Amino acid sequence: MSDDVGNDKRNLGIPELIDVWNARQRSAQIIKKTPLIHSLDISEQVGSNVFLKMENLHEMGAFKIRGAANKILSLTAKQQKQGVATYSTGNHGIAVSYVAKQLNIPAYVFISERVPEAKINSLRRLGATVRINGNSQDEAGEYCRKEAKEEGYTIVEPFDDPFVIAGQGTMGLEILEDIPDVDTVIIPLSGGGLLSGVAMALKSCNPSIRVIGVSMEEGAVMYHSLKAGKPVVMDEVDTLADSLLGGIGTNNQYTFSMVQKYMDEVVLIPEEDIAKGMAYILQNHRMVVEGAAAIGVGALLGRKIENLGENVAVIVTGNNVNISSFIQAVNKYVP
Ligand SMILES: *Cc1c(COP(=O)(O)O)cnc(C)c1O
Repeated sequence: MSDDVGNDKRNLGIPELIDVWNARQRSAQIIKKTPLIHSLDISEQVGSNVFLKMENLHEMGAFKIRGAANKILSLTAKQQKQGVATYSTGNHGIAVSYVAKQLNIPAYVFISERVPEAKINSLRRLGATVRINGNSQDEAGEYCRKEAKEEGYTIVEPFDDPFVIAGQGTMGLEILEDIPDVDTVIIPLSGGGLLSGVAMALKSCNPSIRVIGVSMEEGAVMYHSLKAGKPVVMDEVDTLADSLLGGIGTNNQYTFSMVQKYMDEVVLIPEEDIAKGMAYILQNHRMVVEGAAAIGVGALLGRKIENLGENVAVIVTGNNVNISSFIQAVNKYVP
């Protein structure tokens, strides 16, 4: 590999299945396959075989490590040495910091004042330099772009990047290995990097697989952007699914059109059902997951999706939640 070409000779436009395959080979040293577990109680409730894809079980607690690893490993040695930068509501920043640390390269994380303290602490523990500016992810992003340009850092975008999208797509291949005849896949939706990559991988292999996006009721920017036919800007609100907050970027290049192309349906889930989803996973699988991760289970418990087919996979995306907020959220729903 020559120093200036980078690890990927393909000049990525809209990512395709081959890019997901390349992502899988490239990041195998860092990414371990996560379990897909059958969930009996909810399967009986909805009358389909429901499987949970436990992305909370990555070492750093969320799937974002997939996209971050693929992107950072695709950079040239020179770019890696200068360092990577990101802005994020938390999990993406943690993932970039973790991968950078594994590869021994500097990471700079720009976050907004709304990000919970637990997430800031884990970033610092990972050796990242944390910069706190602005009141939203979009504002933190402006600071990030300015400083990255001045200092020569490569920005690892949280979702709107072909390498990040292809990295998240590796999860789609894993789901197909475990349930080749999956009918419906339920995917939490924010900026849409996760949904774009996974849905593209799934539908490239089998176009009849149904892909459902799930977001919270208030502040679902992708949902409102799709309705408006272009990216819209919205204020951030308080939600249990705080990892689903943030804009999609007014100059969105990839995920808006990929979500438009690959998603069959999107549903919005009330806070109460998100909490029930968190309580369900605690009670039935003895695991603590965050609101954004439990939203798909919440959608099923609230009977928000019909015609599920025989086999359903629900992506449980991460576990970065403050324990006292978790207890407060589930308290009403556990006996
Ligand atoms: C980032 C994230 C999502 C949403 O992913 P997008 O690619 O932004 O749609 C869902 N759940 C968790 C836990 C996340 O960190």
